This record gives sequence, C-alpha cells and structure tokens, in this order.
Amino acid sequence: SFIQSAATVRTTCPYCGVGCGVNASMGKDGTLAIAGDADHPASRGRLCVKGSALGETVGMQGRLLAPMLRDADGDGGGALREATWDEALDKVAAGFQRIIAEHGPDAVALYVSGQLLTEDYYVANKFMKGYVGSANIDTNSRLCMSSAVAGHKRAFGEDVVPGCYEDFELADMIVLVGSNAAWCHPTLYQRIARAKEARPHLKIVVIDPRRTATCDIADLHLPLKPGADVALFNGLLAYLAQQNRLDAAFVAGHTTGLDDALAAAGQGGNLLEVARACRIDPQLLRQFYEWFAATDKVVTAFTMGVNQSSSGADKVNAIINCHLATGRIGKPGMGPFSLTGQPNAMGGREVGGLANMLAAHMDLDNPDQRAALQGFWQAPRMAERPGLKAVDLFQAIEAGKVKAVWIMATNPLVSMPDADQARRALAKCELVVASDIALGTDTNAVSHVLLPALGWGEKDGTVTNSERCISRQRGFLSAPGAARPDWHIICDVARRMGYAGFDFTAPHEIFDEHARLSAWQNGTPGQRRRLFDIGGLAGMTRAAYDALAPLQWPVLAGAAASLAAQGEEQEAAREAAQEADASTRLFGDGMFSFPDGRARFVATVARAPANLPDGDYPLVLNTGRVRDQWHTMTRTGKSPRLAEHVPEPFVDMHPQDALLWGVKAGELARVVSGWGSVVARVQHGGGIARGSVFMPIHWSAQTASDARVGAVVNPAVDPVSGEPEFKHTPVRLEPF
Ligand code: SF4
Repeated sequence: SFIQSAATVRTTCPYCGVGCGVNASMGKDGTLAIAGDADHPASRGRLCVKGSALGETVGMQGRLLAPMLRDADGDGGGALREATWDEALDKVAAGFQRIIAEHGPDAVALYVSGQLLTEDYYVANKFMKGYVGSANIDTNSRLCMSSAVAGHKRAFGEDVVPGCYEDFELADMIVLVGSNAAWCHPTLYQRIARAKEARPHLKIVVIDPRRTATCDIADLHLPLKPGADVALFNGLLAYLAQQNRLDAAFVAGHTTGLDDALAAAGQGGNLLEVARACRIDPQLLRQFYEWFAATDKVVTAFTMGVNQSSSGADKVNAIINCHLATGRIGKPGMGPFSLTGQPNAMGGREVGGLANMLAAHMDLDNPDQRAALQGFWQAPRMAERPGLKAVDLFQAIEAGKVKAVWIMATNPLVSMPDADQARRALAKCELVVASDIALGTDTNAVSHVLLPALGWGEKDGTVTNSERCISRQRGFLSAPGAARPDWHIICDVARRMGYAGFDFTAPHEIFDEHARLSAWQNGTPGQRRRLFDIGGLAGMTRAAYDALAPLQWPVLAGAAASLAAQGEEQEAAREAAQEADASTRLFGDGMFSFPDGRARFVATVARAPANLPDGDYPLVLNTGRVRDQWHTMTRTGKSPRLAEHVPEPFVDMHPQDALLWGVKAGELARVVSGWGSVVARVQHGGGIARGSVFMPIHWSAQTASDARVGAVVNPAVDPVSGEPEFKHTPVRLEPF
C-alpha cells in the first residue's frame, strides 16, 4: 500500500519546488522521524537539511490555534480576542457581502500563496472568479514565477515546463541561470553533481552576478552584470545564427517569428559588444557560446535571478528562443527548464491561481473560455477581466479601491517589495482577514480577523513540483486547537454568502472536480486542446486518491481505469502510461499549444533595470534565500539546528566597497534605498562583485528588529508578468 503502515506516512516536503518525497513516522519517544522516500521520483530518497529538519518544526510554539477578532476595526490597533468559528466566519462573510454590495466585486480581493495545496487554491479561485465575480485573486507566486508563466505562454501558448528532472542526468551541458540551486533546490543540485561525477564530460555553466555555492561544480561561471540576461541570450541567438547552428527544419516546421527575434537580437551587436554590455570577459562569453553551439543536449534551467526582474518575461523568452532556434526542446536531455520556487506554485497555476488566469490553463481574456468555465461551475457571475496583480493590488488597497482583502498562508508585510507600502495599505483597509498557521506574523499584527489554518503534516491534498509531478501531501497529525483546512474555511465563508457549489466535504472531492474540469475542457468542441490534462484522474475514489502515487501530467483519459488500481498495480500503471504517451517530455512531437501548433519566437530587446544606481544610491541590492531558511521563517525558524547556518540577517559586500562606505565586516550597517531601510551585519562572503550587495529575504520584524529587506526593495514590476524586480534595487550603506 502507498501508505506504508499506520506509523509511516508518505508525503511531500512543503518547501521548495523540487518537491521531495518524505516518509514521516512517529518515533517511540513521540518525536516525528523524517526520512527521504526512496520511491519518490523527484528525490529518490534524498532530502536537504530543511526537509530533514521538518520534525523540529511541527511544534505548537507560536501557532494560531483559535479564530481571533480585533475589536477596534479600521486601524489594526485594537486588541485581539478569541472568537468562535461562527463569529469569525460570519464577520468575514458579512464584511465581504457588504463591501461587494456597496462597491462592487472588485472592491474585495484574495491574496494567496504557493504554500496552499491545489485543492485550497482551486476552491479560492472558484470562489473569487466564479461567485464573487472578480479576478482580484493573486498569489505570492506572482513574486517568484509569473515571468516564467508569461514566457511559457508567449512561446508555447500554454504555461508548460517541457522537461523532467531526468533530463538533468541525460544532458551533456547544464546552464543554470540566476539560480543558486546548491542552496535553493538542494537535492536537484546534488543530482546534477552526481551526474557530473558519473559523467565528467557533463559541462556545468553558472550565469549569476554572484559566485555562489552552485559554482563549486561549475566548469564556467559567467558573473554577468545584474539584469543583463537578455543581452547575453540575444547575443547567443545571434552567434548561433552566424555559426549556422540553427535547426532550420525544426524552425520551419514548428515555429514562427525567428526573423523578428534575430533582428532584435542583432541590435545587441557583436560578441565583444555583448561582453561589454554584460560586463563579462569576452573569452568566457565566447567559451559559453561555443559550448552551447557544439552541444545538442543542453538544459537551460532558470529561476529567480531571471524571473524577478522588470524584464523577467523577456529574459525567459530570450532563453527559450535559443532552444527553439536549435530544436532543443521536447527531447531527452534538452530544453528550457523553469525551476519553481515554492512547493505548489505549479499546482496553483493549474487551477488559475494568478489574477490573469483561469482554471485548467484556460484564458481569462477569452470570452468563450470564460463562458465555458461558468457553465461547468454553474457559476452566477464570472470575472470578466484580469484582476489586480500583487503589487497593483496593494496599491489599490492603499488607494481605497480595494476595501477588503483575505490573505492566506503568506506574510506580505515582509515579503512584498516596498513592504512599508503594503503596511500602509493594510492599515487603511476596512477589512483584513488572515488565514495562517502562525499567530505572531507582521501581517497578522494588522489584521482584523485571524483564521487558524492547518499546516504541513496536518493538512491533506496535492502539490505539483517543477517537473509537473503531482504528489500527495498527507495529513498524519491531528488538527491543533480549532484549526481547519484552508479549503474548508473558504467553503464555510462561501456558503454563508449564499453561494452554491461549495459543498465539498473532503479534498478528494475537490481534486475530482479539478480533474473533471480538465478532462471536460479538453473535450469541449471548439476548445483548444491543452497539455495540462489530468482527465485520467477524474472519478477517483477516496481510496484511490489516498493511495495516489506521484504522477506527472498530462494524465490522459485512457489512464483512468488503470489508475483506479491500488498500490503496486497503480505504480506499474503509472510507469506504463508514461512510457506509452511519452508525457515526461512534452513537445516531443513538435506540436505546441497555439491553434496552429507552432511555437513562437519572441523578439526581445535588452533593456536596463527600472531603477538604476545614482549618486545617492550607488550600489545594487540583490536579494535571495539562504540554505537553511524558508520564506519568513514561520516554520524553519523553529529549528535551532537550521538557525546555526546563518543566525541573523546579513549584508554581503565586497571589502573595498565596505571600506568606501565606512562599514566593517562583523558590524551592523544600515542599508538604505529610496523606499526604506534595513539593518544587518556586514560580511564579506567572497562571491560578490564590487558595486553589488546581497541580502537574504527571511527575517521580519518578528524575528529581528528592523530587518525586513522587503522594506528596501523597489516596487518596479515587469510590464508583461507583473513580477517585481527583487534582484535590482539601488541602495547605499551607512554605519549603524
Ligand atoms: Fe527537497 Fe526542497 Fe524540501 Fe529540500 S526544501 S527537502 S530540496 S523539496
């Protein structure tokens, strides 16, 4: 059986997008024992230090265990008091209903999270887009993956990651762009390192302004100027054309738009000019271009360093252009590969978790698809236009246009760019509702209603990782206090608002509706077929859902009968289905998701980051993660072992810059931008170029005073994706 015994439960790590399998069991002494699941295809038994420490993070310290209301509404200044669920849910439902009645559906919003399970996400989207009638539901995935989504949609016609992790083992060259995988996707990095050990000819290229731990296995590190990725990949496209390395047959048969992309790329000039624009040694750049041209099996993996940019979508497309031009997509060991930041950013996207998407990869700006979804849901009023993306949403709240916001499983007062603006916005908002597992977050401190949610190990549902693998998170701990699953809380509010369609009693019923929608929309006449298809999972019994083994989509309808089987039979069926339809590597037939089946080149022109250094703010702040912490530390912060690695906020900088700014390693300094300031200890990690500084994102006012790096980050966003530019904020340093 998939659940090995009463004492051991197979589940999925709740942190990064690798999505490692976890075996959780209760030790004799009552502590939670955590081990890697050798049968999980994403990780094959491996866990990184964060996953291994999960047992230390499930304690009740700091948990929100009962609904709470703040009596002095309006300014967040009143005291919190415990409330019953009925009282709290009535308050949320009545508040939303009143504001919708007085100001229309766009005056309310949900701001959700890649930490939610797919079932939670599905219900939240149905609630807002089909019943409230507004697409004002955005997610913190906007902050990490929306540029990849936009890039995929522009190139492929659908938000699809074509490859699978096995491609990293089959490749002859892996290019990691804007990715410190050694710290942020550790088990995948270890898999790459093992592949290189086994096949030393496998070349690893790291493209990153910083020399990170990932460079330890790199054959080549290109320390490009922050933000210069489009120039670099446009230069590569032009080089490939000059060297006659394009796959003319693939381009002619399966793509459109190469001439425009080449014309745009050619504006970047010759290799020397590109090297100058990227501030890279021309010899190193030539080496990379030559290797790329000469190697068929190339995987180009990219993540936050690419996405979190005011030209993030163009960066993604500049990378994809090079793979389309060489036909290196849809085949073993090659392809562009978006590494997801969060555990369920992909699952959220599948159910329309962004303000500009609909469920099952349908398009919000397509009236036929809106109508189709409305019919499927029997929904009273569908959203008719895209909603507000995260940064715009918090600006609309501050402007008084959005008067109620329900925040789920995220802490925007720490994680948003220009986080003080988010604080001002919530202080002005008529009704702020927060569903969370933690009590003492910065966001909860200004919320009017707190709703206790279940956390990892308590809740039940599915997540989808970076390689499209749907995997179960299983509940094996009893619900603490009065906490409830997020989907349950949303359904409770929806029913109070008089909405039908929210009578779910368990997560498998929600998953079934999600799977049926996927199958239905692909079978509807006139609907364009989408690669996102989990029709094969429709109709699963509760037992089959409970036993569901990790599975990549698409899962086509023909697989339904065999997937109803249990345990080993199901495992065998899964493997057979994947071999049969080659679903592990999409686009193998050269067919993409546009109506004509052709992929699109996107003409990308290199442009500078939105805010450039100047005399007042001459340094560039880059932000990111450290190895042993996750997001705003509500869980990883509980483990003393994890705190040992990096115990406090730091600002990493070049020693000569420190001299210039009068700050010293080991001492505190204030980092100041045009948006705010933050205090951290100066360090010289050795990997950073002059003119740049790096700070981790994790600390909050709750964990270290004056340490919210989000307060410093500029709120510039990509005009296509709406993703903020976390990697490039002009700052200066002051001794503290
Ligand atoms: Fe795996 Fe990521 Fe969890 Fe580490 S944090 S165990 S790499 S899913």
